[in-house]
Amino acid sequence: MFNLENIVRKNILALKPYSSARDEFSGKEGIFLDANENPFGELNRYPDPYQRDLKQKLAGLKSIQADNIFIGNGSDEVIDLTYRIFCEPGKDNVILCPPTYGMYEVSANTNNVVVQNVSLSNQTFQLNTERILAAITENTKLIFVCCPNNPTGNGVKWADIKRILEGFNGIVVVDEAYIDFASYNSLITRLPDYPNLLIMQTFSKAWGLAGARIGIAYADSRIISLFNKVKPPYNVSELNQKAALTALDNYTEFEKRKGLILKERSLLINKLEELSQVKKIYPTEANFMLLEVENAEAVYNNLVGKKIIVRNRSSLVKNCIRITVGSAEENQKLVEAFKQLYA
Ligand SMILES: *Cc1c(COP(=O)(O)O)cnc(C)c1O
Repeated sequence: MFNLENIVRKNILALKPYSSARDEFSGKEGIFLDANENPFGELNRYPDPYQRDLKQKLAGLKSIQADNIFIGNGSDEVIDLTYRIFCEPGKDNVILCPPTYGMYEVSANTNNVVVQNVSLSNQTFQLNTERILAAITENTKLIFVCCPNNPTGNGVKWADIKRILEGFNGIVVVDEAYIDFASYNSLITRLPDYPNLLIMQTFSKAWGLAGARIGIAYADSRIISLFNKVKPPYNVSELNQKAALTALDNYTEFEKRKGLILKERSLLINKLEELSQVKKIYPTEANFMLLEVENAEAVYNNLVGKKIIVRNRSSLVKNCIRITVGSAEENQKLVEAFKQLYA
């Protein structure tokens, strides 16, 4: 049985959180002499610590309650807080499924949490569900699943995620950073059925706000309360909250840009597929693709020489580079550069 209290660190359960000025009085009207702010200027006031306006808008868009939403200073903060809430340093462990996003491991290391790697399957990069379930120990607190996965681009099967959710009494973190580019839907609608499901999304990719640092966690409201307890009081700046609100108010623009990127993605795949320099393009559900070439290091350096920067992912998947879908013009330049590779 999943029991949240059993898997939260004892010190976090007992934690009495900092109570900020805006916790103690959250009204909007009045003469505010309580937070040692400067009365002059434009960004002189502390931001809403719970990002209520932003959560309300997001809740409407995602058909979910605001108390199922946590906003972090990028997904990076969400990942770090997840470790800090659930994993006892030097004792607990997490299961990661490489090749995948590097921050899960870095954050485990900064929090002194043991990583158990259960690789995705070769070539298709699906979850090795049996091996994941077999790797679970009484100190396993988190299992990270990235879907669509970075850097491979594919989605993993819902049936496999479901088996892990049902066979694990800890938290299953499903990172949906690229979900808006995928041909399948977010797992958000499954949240009511799985109290141990934590979904991460971000404004950094499809929403085009990487510079604003807005990461999101969707989960059971009791999990969200733990995040609110542990987070720094004013973790999302006023400017960043406004940027996200503005983006949400321009939903048609979001859809338009996303459509352009998806169109460019298929054009780019078609063009790259024709080239002898490209050995394989892995199927993608994201705004990037993993490409196998003869010699990734050489290709990477050659492209850098032409001021085109891609990501060499050879250390994760042999001779593979990861290419982000850019603008039509950028993609055209990339294809031209590829054609000249061995010329
Ligand atoms: C880009 C990316 C993120 C986003 O991180 P932010 O801190 O929100 O910018 C999260 N997860 C994965 C797998 C990513 O590739």
